[in-house]
Amino acid sequence: MANANAMIAPVAVLGVVLVFGTLFVSLGWITPVDVLPFALVAPGLSAPLLLLHYITHDLRHATGAAQRVQALLGTPVLEQPAPDRRQSPTGTEIRVEHVGYAYDARNKVLSDVSFTLKPGTVTAIVGASGAGKSTLARLLLRFFDPTDGHITLGGVDLRHIETSELYQRIGFVLQEVRLIHASIRENIALGRPSASQQEIEDAARAANIHERILGLPRGYDSMIGEDALLSGGEQQRVSIARAVLLDPPVLVLDEATAAADAENEVAIQDALSRFAQGRTLLIIAHRLDTVMHADHIIVIENGTIHEQGRHAELIARKGRYARLWTLGGYEEPQELAVPSC
Ligand code: ADP
Repeated sequence: MANANAMIAPVAVLGVVLVFGTLFVSLGWITPVDVLPFALVAPGLSAPLLLLHYITHDLRHATGAAQRVQALLGTPVLEQPAPDRRQSPTGTEIRVEHVGYAYDARNKVLSDVSFTLKPGTVTAIVGASGAGKSTLARLLLRFFDPTDGHITLGGVDLRHIETSELYQRIGFVLQEVRLIHASIRENIALGRPSASQQEIEDAARAANIHERILGLPRGYDSMIGEDALLSGGEQQRVSIARAVLLDPPVLVLDEATAAADAENEVAIQDALSRFAQGRTLLIIAHRLDTVMHADHIIVIENGTIHEQGRHAELIARKGRYARLWTLGGYEEPQELAVPSC
């Protein structure tokens, strides 16, 4: 945009006319007096050109905005349960029963997935990139509903639980952090606007982000995207504080901390492991120690459960998971894609 402005600015246009005029005169193609009308008229042309340029630029912006609004409007809104079907879960056990999911008719991403998250246990999901791990986590959070089968929390189908009640029971910390254009305080208290300043600060402390917030120009009143310019890892810690404040008995966690640098990663892992204590946990696991110590490991491949069990059981089974260990260890989830012989 700046380059285009400079190119069609009157002075630049006059400069170009004079340079070429001088060149053509020296070559004997034209006489100096022939250059004069061009030198007088050409700079005057730059104003309408500039206007045209601005209009096309605005048009491009507007088209982009319109497309984003359309995409937003096209996002399906999940149905709230009808009052007569609304039920309250008893307990926090989650059952995934014969669940299948297809983003579109040709593309079945998950099929016949069944498992149970028992209260207070840690379940690790491992599998190659594209295997369907995130889709499964999102189904549990009811970002969308299964195409086949169903998921229950405390014996009630997620579709029959009121959204606000669901999110008091299932918290999440995912890779793509969604902070809103509001103060840090409001971002942390998003799920519980009535929380006191003390509770908000305690949550931020538990998420290892309190000190950083105090260092911002307006502390907890600093605005995201204005005077609160946070790194990816710091944003993730704000989202952990948000989840901590809700204090949910079940937590869905995408463990990868791709957005974080080393220092942030330590802070994030430390915050998460403290937060996870005593909760039912479903983790899309990327770390060796998480996988080893999980109560239940689910190996997903091409949208189905390939193997499941505890670390020792899976090793003894000498299947896919075991081969990874004998091949030199579990480093990246991608390695679980090694084809079977
Ligand atoms: P993982 O978390 O194991 O990497 P995902 O659940 O993200 O796997 O993706 C599983 C499959 O679903 C992939 O083939 C991916 O391309 C596809 N997929 C993921 N999100 C969408 C979407 N929003 N629309 C269509 N296909 C998707």
